[in-house]
Amino acid sequence: MTNGEFYNWRRQLLAPLGPNPGHTALAEMERTLSAHFTLVTQNIDGLRQRAGSTNVIELHGNLWRVRCIRCRKVYEDKTSPLPPLPACNSCGALLRPHVVWFGESLDPQVLNAAYEAIQNCALMMVIGASGTVQPAASMGVEAKRYGATVAKINLEPTPFSDIYTISIMGKSGEILPRLSCRHEVRNVALLRSKQKTVSCKLSS
Ligand SMILES: [Zn+2]
Repeated sequence: MTNGEFYNWRRQLLAPLGPNPGHTALAEMERTLSAHFTLVTQNIDGLRQRAGSTNVIELHGNLWRVRCIRCRKVYEDKTSPLPPLPACNSCGALLRPHVVWFGESLDPQVLNAAYEAIQNCALMMVIGASGTVQPAASMGVEAKRYGATVAKINLEPTPFSDIYTISIMGKSGEILPRLSCRHEVRNVALLRSKQKTVSCKLSS
């Protein structure tokens, strides 16, 4: 299977899916905290934006965007499946999925934006992470190093679990809706001197 075929297959799998209650809760937190809330994700499915999140840093790109291999212009394209060998409107070169492929480096600008948010946050929620894919796996450690409260929401214990101030075991789709309507989330974020919240959504 070529990379193009693989991503078309993933598009067809994901196209009928909608945001879950966890995605909706994260969007609600952003509405409450506005610019103080940043969502960092390893997911490429775009479901967080469909739920209403706008301040989203996608470490691994987005399945619903394509990028020119020459001029690097990024286009949104929700066609499924993508036509074979689509061309860039600007320069005519080939378009490829705007996704970080296995073995490729993460975009340094994207990574810098994530670290800036992480190093300035008061509360970081690490949600649904296996704790094995770098650099996301160590982002909780980085937030803690810069003084954040780090909360972990996951089905099972993961590596680095000793760094978490708060650890909640369970499904993010059930826990996040209960957190988002609690004033505590807002208060924790706003009472601290560094007024920024980062939610690091690491897997679906
Ligand atoms: Zn181009």
